Amino acid sequence: TKETGRNNFQFFTPAMNEKALERLRLETDLRRAIERDEFVLHYQPQISLKTGRIHGMEALIRWQHPELGMIFPDRFIGLAEETGLIVPIGSWVLRNACLQNKAWQDAGLANLRVAVNLSARQFGAKDLAQAIAEILQETGLAPQYLEIELTESLLMADIKRAIDILRDLKRLGLELSLDDFGTGYSSLSYLTRLPIDTLKIDQSFVREISANSNGAAIVAAIIGLAHSLRLQVIAEGVETPAQLSYLRQKGCDQIQGYYFSKPLTAGELEQTLRAGK
Ligand code: C2E
Ligand code: CA
Ligand code: CA
Ligand code: CA
Repeated sequence: TKETGRNNFQFFTPAMNEKALERLRLETDLRRAIERDEFVLHYQPQISLKTGRIHGMEALIRWQHPELGMIFPDRFIGLAEETGLIVPIGSWVLRNACLQNKAWQDAGLANLRVAVNLSARQFGAKDLAQAIAEILQETGLAPQYLEIELTESLLMADIKRAIDILRDLKRLGLELSLDDFGTGYSSLSYLTRLPIDTLKIDQSFVREISANSNGAAIVAAIIGLAHSLRLQVIAEGVETPAQLSYLRQKGCDQIQGYYFSKPLTAGELEQTLRAGK
């Protein structure tokens, strides 16, 4: 009836409207965020278990929204992907991560590697290697100090093309890592064909180590797999001493996680580096 129709209308619409409005607002604001200089990079240290020292850091984007406060990437990267805004945002991330890393090197703090996350849209853009080469040129960062993090699902969309692109990136002299490893659907046989340097064990497996469940077995298997393919392996989301000691015992090369450090502002990481000198 007309009555129920109106009730349904009233029941569903405000919530849907609110969601659509929030999305619209975020999208409008996202379009202006670069020119308004609202993005900031935080850096999470990656620790070598062999030396106990910082080996590199992952750049993680945050959006300092003038009214909504700090927005984490899980709330806007998807939207940026859908709208294509991820391409200019991604370039901003690459340029700023390289600039910052070069500045730390020039200040004599440390020669570390900075890892940057790449989205599917960026990976699909036809001049990716050229764009990265230009950013390296502009910022003066040597290519071995830039690492690109890619996910399995991003590569598996078109594996042949992905391998070509990865080869181009390796030719530039970059480091390549496979992020969130174990959560995708890649066939292991592809792994041997990908010209990558590092596997990053997804934090969902690391979290389960302490529960002594299948997670622990998967972690050990991934470390063994990586090493037999002569790849480095890094565990993400390490939060406890128990996880750390298990990873050490299994020969994991690097760790990243709250146990050692949360993502830090550039200023905070700089202080940590100065203190370690
Ligand atoms: P990711 O690449 O898997 O990054 C790791 C996420 O885990 C980060 O969340 C990090 O802060 C968080 N993390 C680190 N250590 C721990 C820990 O010990 N415990 C727990 N529970 N979490 C930990 P964040 O910064 O919120 O980033 C979320 C995701 O957003 C990233 O996942 C990545 O996929 C994406 N992202 C971040 N920055 C960028 C970027 O510049 N470009 C693109 N395309 N994606 C980005
Ligand atoms: Ca990552
Ligand atoms: Ca990850
Ligand atoms: Ca993740």
